[in-house]
Amino acid sequence: MSEPTASPAAIRISGLVKDYGRVRALAGIDLEVRRGEVFGFLGPNGAGKTTTIRCLLDLIRPTAGRLEVLGLDPRRQGPELRARLAYVPGELRLPERGTVAQLAASIGRVRGTLDPDRRDALAARLDLDLGRRLRDLSSGNRRKVALLLAFLADAELLVLDEPTNGLDPLMQHEFLGLVREARDRGTTVFLSSHVLSEVQRAADRVAVLRKGKIVAIGTVDELRGRARQRVEAWFAGDPPAAELERLPGLEAVTIDGRRLWATVSGPVQPLVETLGRHPVVSLVVEEPDLEEAFLDIYAGRP
Ligand code: ATP
Repeated sequence: MSEPTASPAAIRISGLVKDYGRVRALAGIDLEVRRGEVFGFLGPNGAGKTTTIRCLLDLIRPTAGRLEVLGLDPRRQGPELRARLAYVPGELRLPERGTVAQLAASIGRVRGTLDPDRRDALAARLDLDLGRRLRDLSSGNRRKVALLLAFLADAELLVLDEPTNGLDPLMQHEFLGLVREARDRGTTVFLSSHVLSEVQRAADRVAVLRKGKIVAIGTVDELRGRARQRVEAWFAGDPPAAELERLPGLEAVTIDGRRLWATVSGPVQPLVETLGRHPVVSLVVEEPDLEEAFLDIYAGRP
């Protein structure tokens, strides 16, 4: 076994390209995930999230680019790497035979550890019956089994592809708790998701992928700062329409009598300064909505 390197990055991706025949799924991705962080990987359908993850785990080979995971080269050190991470794929393929407990035991044997108390506690939190036969489980319960196995592994890196697909809101909430606890133990979590609110609550940083390229990366708050904000203002007299319409970032300006509605993207300072020169009776600026911020980024808006 080669020693882990001292690299502070859990995942390092540079210039990653993946072509499926004539389809370019990944068009040059650069990304670094720090050790110990929860990293949200977001993007619309077909953006390339699963393809990136499959390259990271050496389940498919990139067309070009360099990858390093936990200081290892996935291509040359795949078995060693897979022993140190846990992966929940988007499309689960669990064995049909045996019970949940038997599957947990056989994976524990491969990994060399199985803590029965931890298994029972996790199963209780996920509301999962360890005695159930795998082939009888609903798709939501199959996902719970995959999560149980992943969190039970106590891996250095958790790679979770759409992990809450098919889970009810209570379980999604429980899942977030498990992610936070894993991070508190020092685990790095790479979490691909469509569920923006889930990423908002769990991730330290996020990257947004669109058409095989990273179009935004930063903390959730940084991305929120890019979001449009809705503004509503009441004036003592007529709103200064011409002046307002010239303001950078102000869009969808609607004036009805002494009332104005608009959206602002970017800093609100120019608007605030303009309003300050006029008799404003009341002003409401809505908290930017992360969902809208992502929709803007998904849609390629600036
Ligand atoms: P989703 O959120 O819908 O799961 P995704 O972001 O995970 O999407 P990928 O599954 O990585 O996206 O797909 C990226 C692109 O590569 C898509 O255009 C998809 O059609 C294409 N693609 C993925 N797998 C293959 C394959 N085996 N053969 C050909 N094209 C593929």
